[in-house]
Amino acid sequence: MTSPSTRPVRTRYAPSPTGPQHIGGIRTALFAWLYARRHGGQFILRIEDTDQKRTVPGSVDLILQALDWLGMDIDEGPREGGEFGPYVQSERLEMYQTWAAWLVDQDRAYKCFATPEELAEMRKAGAGYDRRYRDFPADRASELEAQGKPCVIRFKMPLGGVTIGDDMIRGPVEFDNEQLQDAVLLKSDGYPTYHLAHIVDDRHMRISHVARAIEWLPSFPLHIQIWRALGWKMPQYAHLPVLLNPNGKGKLSKRKQQFADAGGKSVPVLMHEFIDAGYLPSAVMNFLTNIGWNYGDDEEIFSTAQAMERFDLKDVSPANSAYPIAKLDWLNSQYIKRASVDELCRLLKPILEEAGYAVDEERLKQVVPLLRVRLKSTRDVVPIAGFFFADWASFKAPSADILIQRKMSRESTAAVLRGAIPVLQALESFSHVAQHSAVTAYAKSSGFKNGQVFGSLRAAVTGQKVSPPTFETMEILGKQESIRRIKLALQSITGSES
Ligand code: GLU
Repeated sequence: MTSPSTRPVRTRYAPSPTGPQHIGGIRTALFAWLYARRHGGQFILRIEDTDQKRTVPGSVDLILQALDWLGMDIDEGPREGGEFGPYVQSERLEMYQTWAAWLVDQDRAYKCFATPEELAEMRKAGAGYDRRYRDFPADRASELEAQGKPCVIRFKMPLGGVTIGDDMIRGPVEFDNEQLQDAVLLKSDGYPTYHLAHIVDDRHMRISHVARAIEWLPSFPLHIQIWRALGWKMPQYAHLPVLLNPNGKGKLSKRKQQFADAGGKSVPVLMHEFIDAGYLPSAVMNFLTNIGWNYGDDEEIFSTAQAMERFDLKDVSPANSAYPIAKLDWLNSQYIKRASVDELCRLLKPILEEAGYAVDEERLKQVVPLLRVRLKSTRDVVPIAGFFFADWASFKAPSADILIQRKMSRESTAAVLRGAIPVLQALESFSHVAQHSAVTAYAKSSGFKNGQVFGSLRAAVTGQKVSPPTFETMEILGKQESIRRIKLALQSITGSES
């Protein structure tokens, strides 16, 4: 497969380490990653920490955790290393300083000594920076520098004309140069701004395609002019539309919000919330890939491998999309149904352990097939099936309100349980199939409905109103334990075991 450009495909995700990962950023990473994988290219992680005030310690770990959890493998990055590192911008300051100075030498950039007070005044006047140092004589600039006056380096944006950019999603986009300011490239503390840093890095790291948020589109002409001034071949840019709130109004906020149309639930927007909520990585991948792009054939469920065969940045919709969070629960239950026993065991074990259960893997393997259709989230395993992993010896008889089913009384429940004991006791095979036929026959002969008998037994052996199917559950508990529990239940509602 070939890319539209003749260069080897290399894409990157370039987050700023400003705290928990927002789902919007992760979707940007996903589209960049999918594009690289589709073309057999490389995916690079670069940390953009040039705004030191906004840097939050621990963010890089959260970024890696999110990408790892979703299975987006990284070819080069701060953890992986690579030929074009370091992959953290604060470790590459010299490069930016060199190129900023080169642009000054070429008269494509200049030193600006405007003080914060002067800038504040300009802001107040409403016109933005007035370019007062753009044509400042070089000897006077050197004098000011010699006196130790702080300065920034600004780009000399063309004063007229238009810049036409080519966006992979939107096609040609035209901007009036007049609308743009002489942006700062290098700050007085020697740190670059995003404008300079990403260009120097994308060039040095041989990035062929930049997928980034649409918020950067207004700066696109500035970036094009910087690329030209540096004389470098530009990568192709794709500006991804934003995610809107589920109701379609306003940009999806950074914080968790309550939405009426999500059943009043607060919706996950931070990556660790998806992990904590018990979603499967495969379901989240499917969910995210489907926002602003579609697989085609009206297919809502498709694997990452399938997406990789078709994905193209060119096919991303230019329109903003409402965050379709309501789909995620449904997708998740579909993925749980389709997951292999081994995969589910791997996902459920830590959740049970976290809830305080000691998990026997053999037992987990028996239990997992019973859960597939019952779990909306992997977290549901605790209330539904935690009891399998509790200490059986300390199982307590359930209270009467759990044991006595709808349209049943204390007496009828006791009668059902009492009658079921010898029926179960007599079984040679305790398979659920054998139990089912014996207990069904028993219900018929005793005049109770199947539901009444099955429900009473379920409550007796699990102590829960919701659980995996009763007979499969008893098969795992075994005959002796099941009967012991039924006797305990009987005792709890009658005061006697018989
Ligand atoms: N650090 C920038 C951001 O987080 C990256 C934008 C880009 O991908 O170029 O918005």
